[in-house]
Amino acid sequence: MNTLTDEQLLERFPGTRIDHDNKAFYRGLLNRQLLIDRCGDCGHWFHPPRPICPKCWSRDIRPTAVSGRGHIHLLILLHQGPSAPGVRYDTPHPVATIELEEQSGLRFTSTIVGSDNAALKIGLPVELSWIDRGANPVPAFKLSGASQ
Ligand SMILES: [Zn+2]
Repeated sequence: MNTLTDEQLLERFPGTRIDHDNKAFYRGLLNRQLLIDRCGDCGHWFHPPRPICPKCWSRDIRPTAVSGRGHIHLLILLHQGPSAPGVRYDTPHPVATIELEEQSGLRFTSTIVGSDNAALKIGLPVELSWIDRGANPVPAFKLSGASQ
């Protein structure tokens, strides 16, 4: 497990607003674990991180690893945008909101790797696939059964 202090965690994500509610999520990324907040009282999953459960208002929030499986809920192809390591807009760059299998309506937005854009369709099953951007692992997705 990653044992960075809070100060070291901030240094790993310059320009990112990290607080006590989302620091477990970012620590998880460094361990290549996608940790999504889950309520310890009612079991409701939610993202992004919040200090209380949006369903029952409990403060018993438990960052919990998800399976990484889900399906494409929303898909857009970016033809332009800010420069970022590993992002190419001439391809163009796919951005997908994935509905995770843990709960209806639980969604996480990232990119899809390992497939031509023409193969991407809303509703297709995907699984987690980590990529590296700069010094940090980033959660991405690939079509289920794809090689990357
Ligand atoms: Zn709850």
